[in-house]
Amino acid sequence: MVTIINGKEISLQIRSEIAKAVKAITDTGAPPPGLAVIIVGDSKASQVYVAAKKKACEQAGFYSLEIILPAETTQSQLLQKIDDLNNDGNIHGILIQLPLPSQINESLVLEAISTDKDVDCFNPKNFGYLNLGADCLLPCTPAGALELLKRYQIPIEGKNALVVGRSNIVGKPMASLLTRENATVTIAHSRTKNLPELCANSDIIVAAIGKPEFIKGAWIKKDCVVVDVGTNSIDDPTSPKGYRLVGDVEYNEAAKRASYITPVPGGVGPMTIAMLLSNTLRARNKLHKK
Ligand code: NDP
Repeated sequence: MVTIINGKEISLQIRSEIAKAVKAITDTGAPPPGLAVIIVGDSKASQVYVAAKKKACEQAGFYSLEIILPAETTQSQLLQKIDDLNNDGNIHGILIQLPLPSQINESLVLEAISTDKDVDCFNPKNFGYLNLGADCLLPCTPAGALELLKRYQIPIEGKNALVVGRSNIVGKPMASLLTRENATVTIAHSRTKNLPELCANSDIIVAAIGKPEFIKGAWIKKDCVVVDVGTNSIDDPTSPKGYRLVGDVEYNEAAKRASYITPVPGGVGPMTIAMLLSNTLRARNKLHKK
């Protein structure tokens, strides 16, 4: 019988644990964690996303700062803003909403964020620390996926784990985190020849491709643990919105064979914001030595 991993519930649990920890800090008169989000340009999608982050911050008792800069902001103006935030004692986490306008060099900007405040783990130095197994902030979505496995007490050590996708924000760091947990990790990507065979040999599959229901239920072995990071919108005239979200795994068929599976929506998705809050609290406590 498959267990459906309830990411929504776990993320609310984590957010409530964080809110309690923040209250304990502020009750002593000490400063709360502070998160700054920078948006360059006026993309509606970015603003909706940032508004959700801001609400989550406020619910957890964080100080939240939203900085909206005009689309024509120059690289040096943005770097100056990051420098100000790096030196601002009330700010412990800095997020830059991507993508950035073409006049700005994304890599330079991400490298400018202090590694201690890089709560998205986009600074290449933090990516390096992650691969070295050092104590560092962990990238939110992969860390959220791992946290789900841990909260459900799913064994990872010694298991054959397959990560499908090798992006810098999900696939690669996910593979690194699973390696740190002593799984034997295989990374698959668009040039991989034998994906069904790799799936059949895997105890844990993490799908991060961005293609609706690409991984077929029949490919996975019985009792496999399936973590679906994919979030794909597909047309659905029967839904009030005209579309619905599906993952990268053929959910209904996979659920017949898996031991654990994350649904989409309500699986890995809600964990990203919970881990962002968790990283910001951690960054704050490191700075204030609490
Ligand atoms: P990218 O597009 O950056 O990467 C996709 C990866 O999938 C690439 O490594 C690509 O391989 C690989 N891929 C593409 N086609 C195949 C194939 N046929 N077989 C095997 N691998 C393939 O996507 P992201 O990593 O940013 O995101 C992946 C999914 O996760 C998306 O659906 C995204 O929406 C979702 N996501 C969800 C988040 C959340 O829940 N909070 C956060 C971030 C992402 P190659 O490198 O060879 O091109």
